[in-house]
Amino acid sequence: MSDMLTTAEYENIAAKLSLPTNAFINGAFTTAQSGATLETLNPATGKVITKIASCDQADVDTATDFARKAFESGVWSKKHPADRKKILIKLADLIEKNQLELAVLESIESGKPISDCVTIDLPETANCIRWHAEAIDKIYDQVSPSGSEALGLIVREPLGVVSCVLPWNFPLMMLAFKLGPALAAGNSMLVKPAEQTSMTTLRVAELAKLAGVPDGVINVIPGFGETAGEAIGRHPDIDAVSFTGSTEVGRMFLEYSAQSNLKRVVLECGGKAPSIVLSDVTDLDSIAEHVVGSAFWSMGQNCTANCRLIVHRDVKEALMSKIQEQVGSWSTGNPLDPENALGAMISPEHFERVMGFIQSGKADGASVLCGGNQIEEGGGIYIAPTIFDDVEVKMNIASEEIFGPVLSVLTANSDEEAIAMANDTPYGLHASLYTSNVKSAHQFAREIQAGTVSVNCYSEGDITTPFGGYKLSGFGGRDNSLQAHDQYTETKTIWLDLSA
Ligand code: NAD
Repeated sequence: MSDMLTTAEYENIAAKLSLPTNAFINGAFTTAQSGATLETLNPATGKVITKIASCDQADVDTATDFARKAFESGVWSKKHPADRKKILIKLADLIEKNQLELAVLESIESGKPISDCVTIDLPETANCIRWHAEAIDKIYDQVSPSGSEALGLIVREPLGVVSCVLPWNFPLMMLAFKLGPALAAGNSMLVKPAEQTSMTTLRVAELAKLAGVPDGVINVIPGFGETAGEAIGRHPDIDAVSFTGSTEVGRMFLEYSAQSNLKRVVLECGGKAPSIVLSDVTDLDSIAEHVVGSAFWSMGQNCTANCRLIVHRDVKEALMSKIQEQVGSWSTGNPLDPENALGAMISPEHFERVMGFIQSGKADGASVLCGGNQIEEGGGIYIAPTIFDDVEVKMNIASEEIFGPVLSVLTANSDEEAIAMANDTPYGLHASLYTSNVKSAHQFAREIQAGTVSVNCYSEGDITTPFGGYKLSGFGGRDNSLQAHDQYTETKTIWLDLSA
């Protein structure tokens, strides 16, 4: 991290940021029609950073009308794919050019450590948009095997007006996951950021305009879920919603769709991912590093966090001592200090929720190996990385998504039992499998019910691989890779009779 700045330098940048506070509709910043605002907090100080326009049904209606008009005009939807590519690559370039400002903005509104924002979130955001831009003029349609008397064309078309509804934990990356493929395919968009983290999305919309995305093609509607979110979900003229967030709210989008216009709904939801360590492992140092990183990275506020460690009895003691050594290096505190690996929890409410799970683990008889406490610093809300041993399957900390820096350790008596425990959850987003045996790796990876299984590491794959969940972790499609393109396009058959 040699190219990182100092804490003072980041704080200086933060103090001078110009903060986007209004909705972005038809290429211009505008207040909510009602005049309502919501406060956005810095989780590291507990102080209000600024007030953001709080949109509702009226703003969603207006933005949808502009998005529809832009779509139908063809100004973006009918642009040659190579021209859309150029503009989106310019957007990726502008994100890179402004990465320092965006990284600091991301950190102060989400509590994420600046080191993550600079080295992961910003590069991944630009990379994702650039990848989909680069792909769009290389995707071919199909001709069906219909014989010489007919010509069957199978073509893909943009859906029309697409909305994405986003969570607060990876504001920029989740935006890029949706915006990259949706815009590349030619759609117009309504983006609803999470109410805690609107500013980076608003800034990216401004950069998109600078890059040449026409007015009305990208609209940002900040606001609460119950107002702006529900209005999007129920809107009769929005063709699709791509949602990332909790399973509970994901279900609502299916209901909104069913009760309105049957809009397409794709859900990326919660998880309860396991690290599964089989009996034959040897490289315990590397495994400990991955187990700790996967549990605590992003304060455990990560849908793929491996928050359950399911370890074979034979290797448990040796592994646990290495894990405890590793945790010591995860310093927690001021997110703008580049030495800190863990920042602040997103909000006081979420902090209370996570502490509630820690209390329930203690009350249920699990043993605290480390952490379990709040760290108080500068008005921020921090939780020390926490490991519970002696966790049993029936405990809440073993079954529910905590979404905080809490690792629950379960002991398995056999490799088969470890896999069964891993699958004993309603979620299925991700799992890491550790084994020295190639055959076990292949066999067990197939048995694990999860959208991504990483072997001998923690990884979500990359932009080239589909990302999404089994069971309650997802519905209807995948982010990333060319499969994301399917989310934002409709298939049409064109049949020409050549017989006459
Ligand atoms: P959330 O479900 O509370 O909110 C997500 C979005 O939905 C926000 O924009 C919110 O305003 C909106 N929303 C809330 N209530 C709504 C309602 N009644 N109607 C319409 N919209 C509503 O989730 P969160 O707290 O922002 O994020 C944490 C959750 O997201 C976790 O469960 C996590 O696992 C999940 N997540 C999943 C992935 C993934 O790719 N699978 C990635 C990141 C986060």
